[in-house]
Amino acid sequence: MKHLVAMGFHEAPEMSEVMPEKISSKAQSAKKPKGENKIQQQAVSSTEKDVAKERDRILMPAVVFSYFSKECVLIEACEISNVSCHDFAYLVLEIGCESSSHLTKTAFKDLKRGTLIVCCTEPSHLEEYWKDIKICLQDFKKAMKPSYMHISLPCTGGSSLQRLSKNEDLKAESMQEFLRLIGFCFELIPHVLLWSFELPKRNQYWTRTELQELLKCSKQPLYSQFGQYCQLDAEPISKILQFVSNHPLIVQSLACFSVCSCDDGRHKHFNEINWTNTERYPWKLCGCLIASVKSIFEKELYDFRPHGPDNAYLMWDPKHPEDFRFSRKRLAEFPISAA
Ligand SMILES: [Zn+2]
Repeated sequence: MKHLVAMGFHEAPEMSEVMPEKISSKAQSAKKPKGENKIQQQAVSSTEKDVAKERDRILMPAVVFSYFSKECVLIEACEISNVSCHDFAYLVLEIGCESSSHLTKTAFKDLKRGTLIVCCTEPSHLEEYWKDIKICLQDFKKAMKPSYMHISLPCTGGSSLQRLSKNEDLKAESMQEFLRLIGFCFELIPHVLLWSFELPKRNQYWTRTELQELLKCSKQPLYSQFGQYCQLDAEPISKILQFVSNHPLIVQSLACFSVCSCDDGRHKHFNEINWTNTERYPWKLCGCLIASVKSIFEKELYDFRPHGPDNAYLMWDPKHPEDFRFSRKRLAEFPISAA
């Protein structure tokens, strides 16, 4: 990793140039996959075949995009085994379904120097690199370095629009795939300090026992808040994102966007909406989430417990394990300060 950091320092783009770009052939040839220690270990313990396999992996152009700055290092999940926690102070991991993610770009732009940002927005990458991701998270944890993970996965099968579809098989298949991937994510949760999870509020998956049981697995109080798309983006559409986190400040940061203040009928009609554009998180939303993570990191507010104002909700309390409050009506009865 040292060479990557060094390269970042010498070839850093201006901070305004945060758009992803294909890694240059120069950078590609300069790229080595592992720290020296790891390579030494490999040489001692491997058969010739393993060494050949390792060499192939080194030469494989696995990098989708990668760019560096003086502030942070951003990598794709496929590169995660190349990095060492010793080179960084913080870890931010996004597991999502939005390529060229706004959240990742915001983290890259706004977070402190020394943050490793890992982007895993291709669902197949999660499965393929899951073990490497887990090892990286464990290393950060062992080194007592703070980490944050955000999870948002493809949720089409639970969309309220699915009522229009008669294809029950496809719906069931999408749900199984969702639960399978979310299972991977929740096995990572014990290894991160801070995490958040998002699904559209009207998504049917919230009502699934399997999802609720997974969320409860964290054994920590779960805090929740909504973000109204019409308050976050120029497009006034009726879409609500629901966030859950193990840290109250992360969801509290969304409170000012939780209530629609549009005039009656101002929301765009269903048919006028470009739904592809709305799949991405609005920049304002990403700014809020990352600002709260930054503040928690900088002020070391890891054990912060809410004491009002009650601008978020207690979604699940391990003291009352049967009660999972995913609906907004129920949430209003459980202010965050009750935790
Ligand atoms: Zn509105």
